[in-house]
Amino acid sequence: MADYRAPLKDINFALFDVLKYADHYAKNQLDMIDQETTESVIEQAAKFAENVLVPLNAVGDQEGCKWDDGVVTTPTGFKEAYQQFIEAGWPSMTHHEEFGGQGLPSSLGTVLNEIVGSANWAWGMYPGLSHGCMETLFTHGTDEQKATYLPPLVSGQWTGTMCLTEPHCGTDLGMLRTKAEPQADGSYSLTGTKIFISAGEHDMSDNIVHIVLARLPDAPAGTKGISLFIVPKFLAKEDGQVGERNAVNCGALEEKMGIHGNATCVLNFDGATGYLIGQANKGLACMFTFMNTARLGTALQGLAHTELGYQKSLDYARERLQMRSLTGAKNPEGPADPIIVHPDVRRMLLTQKALAEGGRMLAYFAAQQLDVTKYSTDDAAKAHADQLLSLLTPIAKAFMTETGFEASSLAMQCFGGHGYIREWGVEQNMRDSRIAMLYEGTTGVQALDLLGRKVLGTQGETLQVFTKLIYKFCQANVDNESLKEFVEPLTSHNKEWGELTMHIGLTALENADEVGAASVDYLMYSGYIALAYFWALAAETAQQKLDSGDGDADFYKAKLATAQFYFQRILPRTRTHHDCIKSGVGNLMALSSDQFSF
Ligand SMILES: Cc1cc2nc3c(=O)[nH]c(=O)nc-3n(C[C@H](O)[C@H](O)[C@H](O)COP(=O)(O)OP(=O)(O)OC[C@H]3O[C@@H](n4cnc5c(N)ncnc54)[C@H](O)[C@@H]3O)c2cc1C
Repeated sequence: MADYRAPLKDINFALFDVLKYADHYAKNQLDMIDQETTESVIEQAAKFAENVLVPLNAVGDQEGCKWDDGVVTTPTGFKEAYQQFIEAGWPSMTHHEEFGGQGLPSSLGTVLNEIVGSANWAWGMYPGLSHGCMETLFTHGTDEQKATYLPPLVSGQWTGTMCLTEPHCGTDLGMLRTKAEPQADGSYSLTGTKIFISAGEHDMSDNIVHIVLARLPDAPAGTKGISLFIVPKFLAKEDGQVGERNAVNCGALEEKMGIHGNATCVLNFDGATGYLIGQANKGLACMFTFMNTARLGTALQGLAHTELGYQKSLDYARERLQMRSLTGAKNPEGPADPIIVHPDVRRMLLTQKALAEGGRMLAYFAAQQLDVTKYSTDDAAKAHADQLLSLLTPIAKAFMTETGFEASSLAMQCFGGHGYIREWGVEQNMRDSRIAMLYEGTTGVQALDLLGRKVLGTQGETLQVFTKLIYKFCQANVDNESLKEFVEPLTSHNKEWGELTMHIGLTALENADEVGAASVDYLMYSGYIALAYFWALAAETAQQKLDSGDGDADFYKAKLATAQFYFQRILPRTRTHHDCIKSGVGNLMALSSDQFSF
């Protein structure tokens, strides 16, 4: 059975050739790292993932987590792997030196998370959630809170969670009921039930720091009355060690479709001690720090399942012998040809390849913007990067997870019936991938965020920051014959993107439901154009490498061929989304709720 291998060559191509990370580091005070160091860090991450995490992926799926009277045990090997992970210093890699971090760029964390997540997504969620927790504490916590919680989180001794969801509210957090009552000593007593809390209870770390949304007694209704709290599983003693057990307990584990190795918990807060982070009633704004980190993290989940399924199905397609090629035997000595000779199998493989490599460039580009917002000293560059991130976060989260699920299904299809059988790991991959379209805000919610808040809410300004980049690229290459097949369609799509946005904005003036009716199609349409831009950049880079005779010609030819495949067979999907948007809201709202009955 083929196991995941980190695609180091492709990672380096995206980072250093297409996205010019060496210049990016130099420009943003990140001179502690260069290309050579980056490559060596990534190689170490790949070794850990391939040797330690890959063998635990199926184990986690088959054993799942066990609950016994509130105590949760993770699958065999998970705890030991986590010990190795912290001993090697991985949790602290991108965190602030003043709290024990190594201060390396957060973009390097993106690559680490991709590799860890592709090897074993369920395992990767335990350390993964800690990042958002740390960012939230770092951005909104008091000095005392930072001093107490950040060092053990940075070292990985403690892990973090995000506790938003309650049984009656997921998307609509304005309805949440968990209450927080002020105590004489300045702390709060939290009471309520949170559900679906990932890594909410487990045996891998000494303590768990829950970041919890709750309501103060006099809080206004809705989202304006939500505050944010730190609720540790064990209260921290003055010397930083774990102290008394807090009144937060895991009531049950959810039985679920995939990511069985990750504990999805019902958490009961029964007068648990908590500490306010940020201002009272401004908790949702603080939680967005966590959610934005988590959304980019979830985009990587889409990439992880696409890559894993692609690798498995590619290996299988090279080995599996069925039927003969229509153009004559390609394996005349054998009883049949390998299925990779069949055009339809190639369609499935190339779709996965184009989505994995394109998604990787999108994710690394977003990570680069995050670096700029964190480390640049140029205010204009920071504001520009912030706008790009704000636009690209919902696109990356929803587009990459939707296509991640599609790709994982194509991987199964390449295996025929064998894909549906547990042995090959592609059915686990498909089950594991499905959650990514739901948590951290469903695709529908990301689409409303993109179209309503980010695009129409800024009168198109945020969109223009990205379309201007595309425009500049197209203008610079307008006379480049070798890139014509990419630049022309990209130019027309870029122009159409603006016109379509304008069209939705105008129809929405007449009927606000037009935004909701267009939103998911708009998000997918935007995602396909964004990837087209990165594939055009990749084609430009590959062509330059081929022209200069520098490096592995086959690798660059494959890049060009994949870019062509993307432009000719995937980008046309924008036509469907375009036409659906243009059809308007009428066809969705024609039926009354009763008329849906059968
Ligand atoms: C395995 C797993 C792990 C999770 N981990 C965590 C975690 O760690 N922490 C945490 O707090 N939560 C977690 N969640 C919860 C997850 O974030 C929510 O399930 C998700 O946000 C959706 O909320 P909901 O399930 O209540 O669905 P609902 O909000 O009830 O939504 C149902 C459907 O209605 C749609 N919908 C709702 N409102 C609108 C609207 N205005 N316009 C258009 N469509 C709309 C949604 O898109 C969705 O399709 C997890 C869930 C699962 C299953």
